[in-house]
Formats: sequence, structure tokens, C-alpha cells
Amino acid sequence: MAELKKTVAVVTGASSGIGEAVVRALAGGGARVMMAARRADRLARIAQELGGDAATCVTDVTDRSQVAALAESTIEKFGRVDVLVNNAGVMPLSFLAHRKVDEWDRMIDVNIKGVLYGIDAVLGHMLERGSGQIINVASVAGHRVSPSAAVYSGTKYAVRAISEGLRQETAGVLRVTIISPGAVATELTDSITDQAVRSFVGGFSEIAIDPAAIARAVVYAIEQPEEVSVNEIIVRPTKQKQ
Ligand code: NDP
Repeated sequence: MAELKKTVAVVTGASSGIGEAVVRALAGGGARVMMAARRADRLARIAQELGGDAATCVTDVTDRSQVAALAESTIEKFGRVDVLVNNAGVMPLSFLAHRKVDEWDRMIDVNIKGVLYGIDAVLGHMLERGSGQIINVASVAGHRVSPSAAVYSGTKYAVRAISEGLRQETAGVLRVTIISPGAVATELTDSITDQAVRSFVGGFSEIAIDPAAIARAVVYAIEQPEEVSVNEIIVRPTKQKQ
């Protein structure tokens, strides 16, 4: 088994929800964790609770130089990056006819370009070291499309395609994992501005599961022996049909 307590991990979107739960699970298992997100106060509060093995780096994943600096400061502080969890994401669902083009742009910038910048920031380092793991958080929406989720789903299909390409190109060296959650109780739906969508996402919160469930899947993927690469895990609430 790969040992969590020897692992150095970078987690994006670490200030809330799934990212925060992943950080807590990794740090709880003895990993050293660099937490990245934009909200410095949230990161500082979580890091303070976790103690010396958790560090923070305020990062906007849509800014390539900030993501590069995140990897550099992790290497400076902890000596290397073993695992990158590309988790930061936004989900301002809307119907295409409502033409919320700025929100489409934001989803593409955070959910796709942010993931690519993360890969770019650690790939050379991991290839040089001859090992590493990149875990990309996609979604059930990366497996199926539904009304109001066209662009969000598009970004998550893209995350899965990029992950599979990365897996093929780095086979034998890197482990590449896609985690696709179903409904999870986080702040993700707060960014929805389309009132027509808001009226039906209520059902989402009734079935949503705790983010710790996704964190357990991340830990499982990391803890496999080096020669075992868990490529994709879908985690839905038992009550979720679609
Ligand atoms: P949250 O809204 O709780 O967390 C999103 C995280 O992303 C926050 O930490 C936020 O931090 C960060 N983030 C957003 N924009 C940026 C940015 N530009 N730069 C850096 N960080 C950013 O939602 P979840 O925990 O649910 O979302 C985590 C991931 O899980 C996302 O990729 C989401 O698509 C995916 N997912 C979630 C599901 C769910 O049901 N909750 C289902 C399927 C997938 P900050 O604002 O401080 O920058």
C-alpha cells in the first residue's frame, strides 16, 4: 500500500466542501498537504486546526502563474509533490437560452483551464521524479447531460477526456484518477443565478451526501500499491437515480 503518511499532496478548492474534506482526510492520515483556494481566511482557519503538516497558498486556478507558484511553493516547503488533487470547480447551472455567457466562460476557466494549469504545474516535476498521482474531480455530469447543465457537463466531460489522455501519455510513470461525485452537500449550488434552475435544485440538497464520502474515495485511490492505478470512481448518494 502507498503510505498516506509519507505523501505530499496539493489540493485545489480546499477552502470548502469536497476539497476541505479531502484535506482533512489526508492530513488525518498523516499526509503533508498544501491547501489552495482564493479565500485566505477559510484556508488559514482550516490549516490552524490541522497543525504543522498543512500549509496554505492563496491561488486562483484561472491564473496560470499562480498555479505554477502553488507547485513551486509546495516543493519549497515539503520537498516534492506526490499527489495533485485538481478539485476547484464552479457550477452556475443555467439554460442555454438564458445566455449567461459570462458564467459559461467562468466554468470553462475554472473547471477546464484550472485543471490544465494544475497538470502543467506538476507534470514536469513528476515525470522527472518518475512517479506521481494526479486526481481530477469530474462529476456524474461528466457522464450524462441534463437540461441547464450543458456547459457544466461539457467542462466535466472535458476533465474526463483530459484525464484519459494524460493517463495514456504517462502510463508506466504516473497514476491518473478521475473522481466523479453525484450530489454532495457543499456550497456548489450557491453560484446558480438562473432562477428557473434554482427552483429545481432543491431536490439536490435532500439527497446530497457528506463530502467525507468523496474524501474516502480519494484516500482509497492514493493508498493503492504503486503499481495499481485506480482510474475512475463514481460516488453517488444511494438515493440518486440519474
Ligand atoms: P464548493 O463550492 O464547496 O467548493 C468549490 C471550491 O472551489 C472552493 O474551495 C472554492 O474556493 C474553489 N474555487 C472556485 N473557484 C476557484 C478559483 N478560481 N480558484 C481557486 N479555487 C476556486 O463545491 P464542491 O466542494 O462541491 O466542489 C468541488 C468539486 O466537486 C468541483 O469541481 C465540483 O464541480 C465537483 N463536484 C461537486 C458535486 C457536488 O454535488 N457538490 C458533484 C459533482 C462534482 P474559493 O472560493 O475560496 O476560491
